[in-house]
Amino acid sequence: EALINRIAAGEIIHRPASALKELIENCLDAGSTSIRITSREGGMKLLQIQDNGCGIRRADLPILAERFTTSKLSTFSDLSRIATYGFRGEALASISHVARLSVVTKTKSDSCAWRAVYADGALAPPKAGQSPDPKPCAGNDGTVITIEDLFYNTPTRLASLRSTAEEYSRILDVVTKYAIHNPHVSFSCKKAGSTSPDVTTPSGSEVKQTIQLLYGHSIANELMHVTAQKSDVDLQPWEADVFCSNANYQAKKTIFLLFINHRLVECSRMKRAFEAVYSAILPKGTFPFVYLSLIVDPSSVDVNVHPTKREVHFLNEEVITERVCDAIQNELGKQSH
Ligand code: ADP
Ligand code: MG
Repeated sequence: EALINRIAAGEIIHRPASALKELIENCLDAGSTSIRITSREGGMKLLQIQDNGCGIRRADLPILAERFTTSKLSTFSDLSRIATYGFRGEALASISHVARLSVVTKTKSDSCAWRAVYADGALAPPKAGQSPDPKPCAGNDGTVITIEDLFYNTPTRLASLRSTAEEYSRILDVVTKYAIHNPHVSFSCKKAGSTSPDVTTPSGSEVKQTIQLLYGHSIANELMHVTAQKSDVDLQPWEADVFCSNANYQAKKTIFLLFINHRLVECSRMKRAFEAVYSAILPKGTFPFVYLSLIVDPSSVDVNVHPTKREVHFLNEEVITERVCDAIQNELGKQSH
């Protein structure tokens, strides 16, 4: 059974960056305004994420790493989120099956923090002579999640990982994208032992400033803000918020950040549609930057797509893509006159 659990967990957690994505979403769900990430060996040896969110109540710690443990099931809108992404309450459980997972957490009303170590979906058994977890300890308000030795017990997953440099660059990519989508939150990401972070953003910023900060000066004056939304003939409500480059910005490959209902996803058909719009105005072999935050009716995102399969499908995908393309084209047209 342990082996089956590991294999199932490996289907959800593919690599350090996919674990990190789940952890960042938990921090954001907890209302954090500061998220600090530390990584060792591309996140394979160590991935630690500290937030200043609401913390986890001590009483919830014993079952935290059990499958389907979620505190996010109480209202109808939570249910529609579940419908959107299929499975919930699986991230920490999955991680506990394929890595060493420990949690230090403190809610505002706790007088001290609590520490718990997990293995295989449950609290790790106490060492001889010790009391079982959770144990009181020092700590700030919020949560620190530590993942060590990812895939130590899952050799096939371990073998599928790339170099530590490549895994670390995927970590930075996830942090960069979530930082842009959440400019009110301060993010930082660094290698363990290093004093200077590789990504760092202030809290209380805005999307455009954060893009400029993280993608550099070349894009600073070349961003357009475009919006589009449901028209009278569309049945489902939707709304798109876009920051995209103008004709002066020419990247070597397309930079496409897509969030649907605040979740980082991939949609290669949309990406190709945007590339087609820009191919009319950019020199051959150069590509745009497009950040798109799309809000759709949660029930219209394909429920059969697993939460970690980032490629999504959603209802009215073609219509929405076409309208967003029109809006971008329209703005590009205005700028060239
Ligand atoms: P889900 O996010 O789908 O509920 P997870 O396995 O990702 O499932 O997390 C399980 C539960 O652990 C969450 O519902 C939440 O109550 C709690 N939790 C996880 N991470 C944090 C965090 N950083 N801050 C506060 N609570 C957290
Ligand atoms: Mg989660």
